[in-house]
Amino acid sequence: MLEMIGIDKAFGRQTVLRNCSLSVKRGETVVLIGPSGSGKSTLLRCVNLLSPADSGDIFFARQNISRGEIPATKVRQHIGMVFQNYELFSHLTAAENVMLAPMTVLGINRIEARKQADALLAKVHLFDRADHFPDELSGGQQQRVAIARALAMKPELMLYDEPTSALDPEMIREVLDVMAELSAEGMTSMVVTHEMGFARRAANQILFMEQGEIIERASANDFFEGQVSARARRFLDQIL
Ligand code: ATP
Ligand code: MG
Repeated sequence: MLEMIGIDKAFGRQTVLRNCSLSVKRGETVVLIGPSGSGKSTLLRCVNLLSPADSGDIFFARQNISRGEIPATKVRQHIGMVFQNYELFSHLTAAENVMLAPMTVLGINRIEARKQADALLAKVHLFDRADHFPDELSGGQQQRVAIARALAMKPELMLYDEPTSALDPEMIREVLDVMAELSAEGMTSMVVTHEMGFARRAANQILFMEQGEIIERASANDFFEGQVSARARRFLDQIL
């Protein structure tokens, strides 16, 4: 589904990604962990071409998307992204937020888009909040609307960048539950998170980044059975 090979990226003279390679199979959930500044967000942003790689190749659905041959907007139609700050459109209701891209990008009519939005909001357990505006929703609810909005484009891959780190503790769980449900249904996902409970439930692979490099990769089983390097162990001890 996704193959990144030898990705390098610098901002000015600072190397931010160094020879990063990874592979995500269809249906897999990959969790990226690592200290602040290690390049996790940049790596995710390379995938949907928000922050293009300087060198290396990215294959998505068998096409090389890193050579500029396929327009970034086209690639992004197939990749959903959810950020730390949900950034819903404040003047639109939950349902309208979800309907917007299908209507404007795919040309789906309002009635069809609403039907789809209702189904997606039900999927994220917000059916009864469809006509609320973002400021009438809790942070966790807004983040679930953001997930529904990303799903509305029927992405083949979902990218989540610390989707719960701006939330109050009592709302983290409801967002992670939705993400884990999606993963269990086979949604291919890359998730930057330090929520190791989520990783244990949902991850197939865990990648540990440091200073722009993926220095460790493990299956979730090996990882949680403690088969990790001393470096990764120290990091985990800090965050757990
Ligand atoms: P965090 O856990 O704090 O979110 P991260 O692992 O996601 O960190 P990145 O945001 O990918 O780290 O940043 C990696 C490095 O790249 C950092 O040193 C950061 O300052 C730098 N960086 C990121 N984006 C830019 C940018 N647009 N311009 C210049 N430097 C950047
Ligand atoms: Mg980040």
